[in-house]
Amino acid sequence: MKIAVLSGKGGTGKTLVSVNLAAATQTSVYIDCDVEEPNGYLFFRPEGVEEEEIAIKIPSVDEQLCNGCRICVDFCKFNALAYINGKLKIFNEVCHSCGGCILFCPEKALSEQDKVIGRVQKGTSENVTVNTGILNIGEASGIPIIKKLLNDILPGPEFIFIDCPPGSACIAMESIRDADYCILVAEPTLFGVHNFNMVYELVKLFDKPHGVVLNKCLEGKNPAEEFCLEKGIRILGRIPFDNELGLLNSNAQIAVRENENYKMLFSALLQIVTEEVQK
Ligand code: SF4
Ligand code: SF4
Repeated sequence: MKIAVLSGKGGTGKTLVSVNLAAATQTSVYIDCDVEEPNGYLFFRPEGVEEEEIAIKIPSVDEQLCNGCRICVDFCKFNALAYINGKLKIFNEVCHSCGGCILFCPEKALSEQDKVIGRVQKGTSENVTVNTGILNIGEASGIPIIKKLLNDILPGPEFIFIDCPPGSACIAMESIRDADYCILVAEPTLFGVHNFNMVYELVKLFDKPHGVVLNKCLEGKNPAEEFCLEKGIRILGRIPFDNELGLLNSNAQIAVRENENYKMLFSALLQIVTEEVQK
């Protein structure tokens, strides 16, 4: 079962939830699709890591063949091409690898070349297979890396936890596309609720079954909880705001492997999520 873990913004506790749920299983796969800032591997410290570079196709121009007709420039909707001072300039950073300019060039002056945009790493940490996507700094889109991570999932009965990029942009959409269930992680602030609403709209748009984990819970009013009650969103569990959990987390330690109480908390949450997915 593929379970995507989302949040409206960074720092909400999405990685805390996905890492600890994965660690609470007998066996599972943890996939870090937060490719701009992957940090699940810092907790798991996987062993036997294998790495593979991920490349996209970008155009390359043969200046001997290019006659400056600018058909490619007009075609490119991403403004990745410009004809300046008698030369075709290609802005690789904003090229989306659609290949259209190569097809439309009447002089066959454009061809494909590989450009490495990042890498995926695969290793193991006790009961968890840890797959991590890493986008190189300055690259426009991590979607090819996320596709690679998700396409490499082997069919099986085990739990697969997808630690999604924060927010509701296209990389978050790509990450939840094949998920059987979505866990939304929310924090008890008004700002947090605003961002939470955006991912809530996203999972509704994709018609994904979903529930909420309320993180950093304190005594008193919780705007995220009020929002869930108002919208009728299933609350799967509550994680208290406490110093020990904060300390473990800031030391990149996995709470369920360090503390029996957190093991019970996340095992109970895992049980609830399992029942929800199987409904
Ligand atoms: S379409 Fe081909 S020939 Fe025309 S400007 Fe582009 S690369 Fe040059
Ligand atoms: S491959 Fe597509 S996005 Fe990239 S430069 Fe050509 S037309 Fe533009």
